[in-house]
Amino acid sequence: MVRPKKYLGQHFLKDKKIAYNIVNALEGNDVADVLEIGAGTGVLTEILLKRDFRLYTIEVDKESVIFLQNNFIDLQDKIIEGDFLKFDLKSYFDSQIAVIGNFPYNISSQILFRVLEFKEMITEVVGMFQKEVAERIASKPGNKVYGILSVLMQAYYDIEYLFTVDESVFYPPPKVKSGVIRLKRKENYVIDCNDKLFKQIIKMGFNQRRKTLRNSLKQITGNIDTSDLIFNKRPEQLSVNEFVFLTNLIEEKIRTS
Ligand code: SAH
Repeated sequence: MVRPKKYLGQHFLKDKKIAYNIVNALEGNDVADVLEIGAGTGVLTEILLKRDFRLYTIEVDKESVIFLQNNFIDLQDKIIEGDFLKFDLKSYFDSQIAVIGNFPYNISSQILFRVLEFKEMITEVVGMFQKEVAERIASKPGNKVYGILSVLMQAYYDIEYLFTVDESVFYPPPKVKSGVIRLKRKENYVIDCNDKLFKQIIKMGFNQRRKTLRNSLKQITGNIDTSDLIFNKRPEQLSVNEFVFLTNLIEEKIRTS
């Protein structure tokens, strides 16, 4: 047995049926390699091994790593002891991969930002998150919970909220419900604007989400003319495409000002 450690966000799944549902949610088209983040005691691992992938796991907890090494003989050299947030996927894998996991809730946003850094390599993510986080990532414009992570992830991935998981199926039970989502990289995942400015606009806009973009983006727009109607809007009203449009508009105005 592995003693659950709170600081690592360890909540081990007890329910095999739910573990199956999570693994089944992974389509895995066009990839040979799948990376499981945070395998813990291997509830998902065991089922993943039955599928037709080369499975790798990355786990930061030494005690879990030893448990996995002892219980999954087939996996041996594919058990990576390490921190996913610091792991260089590019030096390890030479092709596209899919990622799956019952993610530690304390670092779930960081995991997604890391996915974005490696989006050229990651075609699909199936992940269990705190329910509110899962909903936020999948939510559409106009929704109260639509935010930075929603836009950034939806710029590159199509996202589907799949199902909710009750606290009671974990040991120890978390304080909140969980939600499983699937992110599939868009066929064309290169956005049609300045990537850096796009991110800046989104972050700055949502940092003052009640204000119009005209007011919240002043640090970026400076003295340029912001009389266009789009500046009347608040960030939560804009789809990914509208953020792309806005980025190009601002860049063009700065260039010609
Ligand atoms: N997959 C298992 C465990 C989920 S709990 C199950 O479903 O039962 C989350 C797991 O992520 C824990 O095992 C924890 O040790 C691991 N973890 C936490 N932070 C991590 C990190 N930065 N990199 C890799 N694994 C991490």
